[in-house]
Amino acid sequence: MKEKLYTIELHDALMSGDECPFCYMERDLEQKAIEFVLGSSYMESDTRDKTDRQGFCRHHTKMMYDYGNTLGNAWILKSRMKHLREGLKKEMSGFKAEPPAKIGFFKKREEGSGNSVSAWIRGEESHCFVCGRVDETYRRAMDTFFYQVKHEKEFMEMVKNSKGFCIHHFADLVEACCAKLDKKEQDELLPVLFDQMNRELDRIQEDVDWLIEKFDYQNKDKDWKNSKDAVQRTMQKIVGGHPADPVFKAVK
Ligand SMILES: [Zn+2]
Ligand SMILES: [Zn+2]
Repeated sequence: MKEKLYTIELHDALMSGDECPFCYMERDLEQKAIEFVLGSSYMESDTRDKTDRQGFCRHHTKMMYDYGNTLGNAWILKSRMKHLREGLKKEMSGFKAEPPAKIGFFKKREEGSGNSVSAWIRGEESHCFVCGRVDETYRRAMDTFFYQVKHEKEFMEMVKNSKGFCIHHFADLVEACCAKLDKKEQDELLPVLFDQMNRELDRIQEDVDWLIEKFDYQNKDKDWKNSKDAVQRTMQKIVGGHPADPVFKAVK
């Protein structure tokens, strides 16, 4: 494998006690990308050229605002704005409303694809500089997972001893399992992953159930067990990410 493997990062993530190793890695990558873009790199022309073209999704725009650095954000926005204005002006002057016949009676009409201006805007919204950086490494972390499954005997023990995966990243994991492993390997790995998922979801369910029970006055003196942060962990298990994280800010 020519591309870099993220063995150490993946091992750390699995042993971190997080509800999902991919959420754990994603957080680190996301924060590093924000630090990078709002560090001094926004003054470098090749980075700015990329941020002009790729832009930022709504989630990462909010993260950039929260991180701080007003001047850095202003520089990035100034030239992204220029890029968008030029593009939009061009699209508006050559506006084409696609005739409905072309969409086809049975074909589901994709939102925004019916005319040239909306299609162009949707296109611009489909990419993000931070998402792009995170996705690239995430993809390689997924490759590393399967490289380890194939080449390191102890790896699956490490997976079994972890808290499993969030449902969001589990979709990618199972998809990659089908794409990267042969039938025999899939038959060995998938039951292990499915068992673990059932077990870990049972655990989370118990935690959130008990949290609700704790609000019953009859249980007020009983132990919290593992339910104190059950809301945060259940949110993560279902949609991924770390809802209880404090806002990520520049260190002053
Ligand atoms: Zn996750
Ligand atoms: Zn993004």
